[in-house]
Amino acid sequence: MKTMRAAQLTEQGNPLELVTLPVPSPGEEEILVKVKAAGICSSDLHYQEGRSQVTKLPITLGHEIAGEIVECGKQVRGLEPGDRVCIFYLVTCGKCPACSSGNDNYCSEAKMLGKNIDGGFAEYITVPARNAYPFPDSIPFTHAALLTDAVATPFHALSRAGVKTGESVLVIGIGGLGLHAVQIAKIMGAGKVIAMDLDPEKLSLASRVGATMTVNPGEKKAVEKVIELTGGGVNLAVELIGLPQTIRQAIDCTATGGRSVVVGICPEEIALNPYHDLLLKERTIMGSADQSRADFPVIIELADQKRLDMSHSVTRELPLDEINQGLDMLRKKDINLVRLVVTFP
Ligand SMILES: [Zn+2]
Ligand SMILES: [Zn+2]
Repeated sequence: MKTMRAAQLTEQGNPLELVTLPVPSPGEEEILVKVKAAGICSSDLHYQEGRSQVTKLPITLGHEIAGEIVECGKQVRGLEPGDRVCIFYLVTCGKCPACSSGNDNYCSEAKMLGKNIDGGFAEYITVPARNAYPFPDSIPFTHAALLTDAVATPFHALSRAGVKTGESVLVIGIGGLGLHAVQIAKIMGAGKVIAMDLDPEKLSLASRVGATMTVNPGEKKAVEKVIELTGGGVNLAVELIGLPQTIRQAIDCTATGGRSVVVGICPEEIALNPYHDLLLKERTIMGSADQSRADFPVIIELADQKRLDMSHSVTRELPLDEINQGLDMLRKKDINLVRLVVTFP
């Protein structure tokens, strides 16, 4: 029996364990992928620490995955061994009205790789063939891995919010998602794009990839500054952090008729005055969860055509053996982190 190395969470609160497991074999409609790159997302840290729940233990974490197909199940068409693929991380039923209309992220049976079923911090993974999106040689595996979440998630949010030509956009939180949100807003036709983050280094990174202005909320009157820079507030605020105060900032920074899209995971309640915050200013607040299949061909094209500058996206590559050090770096926020990516030879 062929075996592989994997990093598993056996108990929340403990470090991941490096284990040896059998290489899974693909079902008839599945593919076996040799993982080449898997991004470490803040969500992985939340699962490890127990701040977000996983539904099975032990579980192999990792949901930002790219690799090479090594075997296809009997019923698989259109894919073959050797194809470079990135993986849509929701395994869905494929049949319900949500799935049929391309809104797989609404599927009530959706299971997430690395949360509900084994993910990509392993040498191999099996996934349904319909979750694999081939990408060209122009895109390195590390970037392809990030496309599946760090790019796809803000792309989905900005698509939902519908950026109109010339609109001003505020991006709150310049991490793995925010650095790409800035660029996607520009690609979609935004005028002013304002990056907001506490870390001056991240703000300078945001400027390098196209942010027209930056605001540090650590300095006084951040909201007033955004309102001043835009002559009354932004048309669209994208919240990527998930704290009650940053969601509040997003709302307060939007102009009359403006909208806020909340992507950061915030399980707490926020105070809202419907009359002053919403009605009087005709503002909209919306949520955006995960991605949909329709996002994948577009973001792969943007990466292939170099419309997305991903040269700052991978802060460091790590071998699987150093996954716990990677999670510690994320926890301590001690280096100017965009994304750490586990890579495999
Ligand atoms: Zn993630
Ligand atoms: Zn479904």
